[in-house]
Amino acid sequence: MSAKGAWLTDTDGRRFLDFASGIGVTNVGHCPPSVVAAIKAQADRLIHAGIHVVTYEGYVALCERLVALLPHGEVTKAMLVNTGAEAVENAVKIARQATGRAAIVCFTGGFHGRTLLGMTLTSKVSYKKGCGPFAPEVYRLPFPDRRRAPESVDEDDFSNRAMAAFKESLLTAVAANDIAAIVIEPMLGEGGFLPAPRGFLRGLREFATEHGIVLIFDEVQSGFGRTGHWGAFQHFGVTPDLSTWAKALGGGLPIAAVIGRGEVMDAVAPGTVGSTFGGNPIACAAALATIDAMEDLDLLSRARTIGDRVRHRFQTLQEKTTLVADVRGVGAMVGIELCIDGDIDRPATELTKAVLDDAYAAGLIALSAGIHSNVIRVLAPLSISDDDLEQGLAILEEAILMRTRRTR
Ligand code: PMP
Repeated sequence: MSAKGAWLTDTDGRRFLDFASGIGVTNVGHCPPSVVAAIKAQADRLIHAGIHVVTYEGYVALCERLVALLPHGEVTKAMLVNTGAEAVENAVKIARQATGRAAIVCFTGGFHGRTLLGMTLTSKVSYKKGCGPFAPEVYRLPFPDRRRAPESVDEDDFSNRAMAAFKESLLTAVAANDIAAIVIEPMLGEGGFLPAPRGFLRGLREFATEHGIVLIFDEVQSGFGRTGHWGAFQHFGVTPDLSTWAKALGGGLPIAAVIGRGEVMDAVAPGTVGSTFGGNPIACAAALATIDAMEDLDLLSRARTIGDRVRHRFQTLQEKTTLVADVRGVGAMVGIELCIDGDIDRPATELTKAVLDDAYAAGLIALSAGIHSNVIRVLAPLSISDDDLEQGLAILEEAILMRTRRTR
């Protein structure tokens, strides 16, 4: 297999347009020349040293870059690990040390990784079946789902109600002053590309500040340009105390980060966080080159343009088929929810799989999401050309229409 830009070529020489981007990783496309060059140059200079052993330039340079792009208040600090799950684990450990408390609040629909704590925080049963027992002191509350509110309820009203419901549910779950952290994806990734209501995130921010709780945003899927900002939190205008990043950060190499408010990050005791490979020099070089490429190609505004096109196309498609129940998302993180007769209580799980299989046969790779696996996620590389984007969208559109015709 090989890949370039938005295209994958399999072992038989078949070419596929890639709307999965390795699960939201290759935002700058496959094998971008500047990232490949940075990886090669770094491999000649230093492959591994271990940040627990010596300090090297790449680790420091990347942390400095991250805190400049993603400030969390006046003083921001960062640490590097290898994967999204590891970032989440470390953020929770930092929050526990900073507060001296144990409980963690998370939300339905959330996905936070496949380590044991990551799985505990994750809410889709099929991801965790047979893997328990899970970690203690984790409390899961409902993620506010705007789709289920009557149309007469406006965004502010909905957020206020969601916040009131959150406080009410908490009364039966855990005392506020026992909570170390609230962990939330500002926009559900695996949970179906559902943005959290802005007012709800603001409400959580106020609640966390009032009760001395660390607010953690998991930006592993929503981060690094996907929503048209470096972080989705910048779109919502709510700053967390800690945040977790991975996937697109390394342009394809495994690297992840916890970024946070200085005083919270400083609460950690030496030896309690980190890892042998975390912030590996080659992965740091790839991440720095990826950030440069994103800036040079202006991929943040490109993400907004891509998102507008995808949304417009599938909103138009809603006029032709009731299979498309909802088109939603922020920037280029767009989900197309398929339901029978457009009824969100009748998720079209099997049909979604069939649509994706048909699209694959026609040369397009895309993934589903959502607890019913009935949301098609568009995660095209942000560097994709207009022609390639149109070609991929046309394949997806035709696959949906074909299944619509067959079910009539
Ligand atoms: N958090 C979120 C929001 C994710 O989407 C994922 C991966 N899908 C993870 C954490 C875990 O990341 P990783 O697979 O790199 O451990």
